[in-house]
Amino acid sequence: MDEKTASVADKFGSSVFNEATMRERLPKVIFKQLMKSVQEGTSIDPAIAEVVANAMKDWALEKGATHFTHWFQPMTGITAEKHEAFIAPTEDGKAIMEFSGKELIKGEPDASSFPSGGLRATFEARGYTAWDVTSNAFVKDQTLFIPTAFCSYTGEALDLKTPLLRSMESLSKQAIRILRLFGDEATQRVITTMGPEQEYFLVDEKLYMQRPDLMFTGRTLFGAKPPKGQELEDQYFGSLKERVADYMHDLDEELWKLGVSARTKHNEVAPAQHELAPIFNSANVATDHNQLTMEVMKKVAVRHGLACLLHEKPFAGVNGSGKHNNWSMATDAGKNLLEPGKTPESNAKFLVFLSAVLAAVDEYSGLLRASVASAANDHRLGANEAPPAIISVYLGEQLTDVLDQIETGVAKSNGKPSTLRIGVSTLPSLPMDTSDRNRTSPFAFTGNKFEFRMVGSSASIATPNFVLNTIVAETLSRIADRLEKAKDCESEVNVVVKELLRKHRRIVFNGNNYAGEWVEEAKRRGLKNLRTTVETMPELIAPENVEVLAKHCVLSAVESHSRYEIMAENYVKIVNIEALTMVEMSGRRILPAAMKALRQAADTVAALKAAGASNAAVEEVLGEISESTTDLKSSLDCLVRTVADAEQVHGNVLEHATYFRDQVIPCMNTVRTAADRLEGIVDAAIWPFPTYADLLFRV
Ligand code: ADP
Ligand code: MG
Repeated sequence: MDEKTASVADKFGSSVFNEATMRERLPKVIFKQLMKSVQEGTSIDPAIAEVVANAMKDWALEKGATHFTHWFQPMTGITAEKHEAFIAPTEDGKAIMEFSGKELIKGEPDASSFPSGGLRATFEARGYTAWDVTSNAFVKDQTLFIPTAFCSYTGEALDLKTPLLRSMESLSKQAIRILRLFGDEATQRVITTMGPEQEYFLVDEKLYMQRPDLMFTGRTLFGAKPPKGQELEDQYFGSLKERVADYMHDLDEELWKLGVSARTKHNEVAPAQHELAPIFNSANVATDHNQLTMEVMKKVAVRHGLACLLHEKPFAGVNGSGKHNNWSMATDAGKNLLEPGKTPESNAKFLVFLSAVLAAVDEYSGLLRASVASAANDHRLGANEAPPAIISVYLGEQLTDVLDQIETGVAKSNGKPSTLRIGVSTLPSLPMDTSDRNRTSPFAFTGNKFEFRMVGSSASIATPNFVLNTIVAETLSRIADRLEKAKDCESEVNVVVKELLRKHRRIVFNGNNYAGEWVEEAKRRGLKNLRTTVETMPELIAPENVEVLAKHCVLSAVESHSRYEIMAENYVKIVNIEALTMVEMSGRRILPAAMKALRQAADTVAALKAAGASNAAVEEVLGEISESTTDLKSSLDCLVRTVADAEQVHGNVLEHATYFRDQVIPCMNTVRTAADRLEGIVDAAIWPFPTYADLLFRV
């Protein structure tokens, strides 16, 4: 069938070596064994890998591939790939296309330049990549991509996928213990499910190219507020401009071919802001797909003369972008464990899983907060548009009411108060109402899943998800310990759930998270308010957090420390690049423009004088430009000095990061204030780069 007439259903997954393709191309026994490994997460027999590799290669060649690559997710947060040709020379001077089972299973990229947070120095180990059988291989850019995990030779995780897979394993193990107590003998695996909604901006590529800040840092470091922002709210769900619609259509098609189930698309709140949501998948596949989505978004944009901005805060004064991390747990038979049940028994099970999540989020809120922290996300969290830095859980009025009744042991329904026993009496029917959404909550229950809204738009979702899986695995394991020991499991369920609800009630907040009063209230409740990345960093090495990750074999203590180092280094590097970009833009572009403007005004004043006239307004303009130019120059000098002095900061990575937050960022803010003021009074024709109005409204 020709590409154009192929229906969407035919195109979907057409570039993926998926189950259907495997069934068609692999001998039956091999296919069965492979599927068994996929479902059970066990390793692959080399003989099987050999057959799979061959079938994969033949299929990839038919799709036009000439190369293969192990595709992995180093701790840079983006993906990495090194392409190798299938080609193998033969003795007669020709070549054949080859791909062995060994090459499929294991790769050895030269990994020395990826961040390891000191791990490599400690172990002097090179990294290797290992085939992840649970995420399908695919063809893109004439290359066969094989999703892989990336580890050091001594087994330390050097990537984001490895801890995610480990955490899914741990969560499954603990959840199954609970299911067994409820008489479920059939479930073999519990899968973390995940649907990330992705926000992004589109700007004209020609304008983008004129902004070094966008090119180097992903966000605008300068820009006065445009006359129109998002105040009319006329962009949210508004009709799509033709150019944007074309882009989205193209994007969907590319993603569908790669098996990414992009489902909804719409305009977001800010001008030029949009969103794409896929249908949920296993957390592992969803993470791979989200990485692909971000990459394809950028590539397709170029085709349409656009630039796709994934930064958390590309523009000051209008909403930033996040990722809504929709998370739940499901059995291998597809039963959602956060789906409130209709029978007393399924209600009790639901309540156990729900209280485990509440307990985990409350007890490990610092770690969860740290899992989404970055220099970029600092501009967004708590900026009156995104969930604040305080973690709380929204449950909705109805569910909260039910939990309050359980906690006090008194049912309010049916007139007279009666004792409410989980599992015996039928709970009031639990809410499935998705209309009472609280968009300000960082962690909201939305009927049958939790939506974690603090995740940044450019970040990998692997980290927040492996943290979430681990902390829920921990609270589930504690519940299972108690229930397994109990003589009367049913009444122990009552006791445990009540206890957990009482202990962790403080994390539930259904009100407006953007309100100033909430900050005060949260403080009274003893909830953490970790406003910047620097404040969250110590959470990564806090003993209780290191311990929980180690206990569930997600990150060893050494691996946790390495991630802490990387986080701090990354923070410093990002702020440093931003500061240097500011220096370059203000020194070589804004100041020269300001001097031209000064000259224009001064010439006018002089000309008037020569003609024996004078004009106070012109002199005032000259004065204003002059004053702002002075401010810009002096704050620029200060920034240059402060950045240079950073080299004198001796101490640990935290002190370094603290210096950048407390010394460099405030200087950057004063430079910006002076420059933005100049933008408002300097001749538009000589202003050196496109303004916010150009960027936000000229797509
Ligand atoms: P909205 O939040 O805009 O109302 P939906 O409720 O349809 O939209 O879902 C948003 C995202 O949540 C989608 O990516 C969807 O696939 C995902 N989602 C739905 N159910 C689950 C689940 N059980 N586990 C994980 N993600 C889910
Ligand atoms: Mg949503």
